[in-house]
Amino acid sequence: MFIKKESRTKGKNIYSFIEWYKLNLGIRADLVPVLEDVRLGANVELWKFERTRGSQYLSIQKRYLEYCLVKLGLYYKEQRGDYYVSKSPILLNQLWSREIETGEFLGYPKCCIDAFKKSCQEFLKNGQEKGPAVLFYRKLKEAVKKGSLNEALFYTLHIHCELDCQKTIILTESIKLVLESRDIEAAYHLMEYNWNLLYAFNYKYPD
Ligand SMILES: [Zn+2]
Repeated sequence: MFIKKESRTKGKNIYSFIEWYKLNLGIRADLVPVLEDVRLGANVELWKFERTRGSQYLSIQKRYLEYCLVKLGLYYKEQRGDYYVSKSPILLNQLWSREIETGEFLGYPKCCIDAFKKSCQEFLKNGQEKGPAVLFYRKLKEAVKKGSLNEALFYTLHIHCELDCQKTIILTESIKLVLESRDIEAAYHLMEYNWNLLYAFNYKYPD
């Protein structure tokens, strides 16, 4: 699906209320592509804040998140601090009854979901030293060094089947576009978050 010509929210600033701006930038980056019909669903990992920001921050963010979800007309299911969010309650039920997998719910391209599964199976079967994420970041690092990376790829959170996966490029460019037009702070945050992941990888797995 990705970007629709006439988004339901086009032309309206649905984000102009104070609780939205109190919401963590990473959460805003998760929610905007769903609200703007670029992705089917999002997974907000609120539980991570317990470790990174403490339980008080977590409980405050939980209040803002649930308020914003209701106000923006999104449906959600929560399990141990993992929020699965969508405009479609049917899709949420399909996820919960395992009719669809998480990757599909999150709108990841099928080629990337299949490649990730295959790579995980090979990793487990052959006892390889490096898992799919490590192999992916290695490719990403090489492309950054060569200056051949499409920077729109820093606007996503999935492991791509290939760095030039066209479906991923369309998806990430759409995410970049809606974030930059609807919530520029969240756009910068997501890009920085992904750059930081790459720096962390580089530190952990130096050449
Ligand atoms: Zn792909």
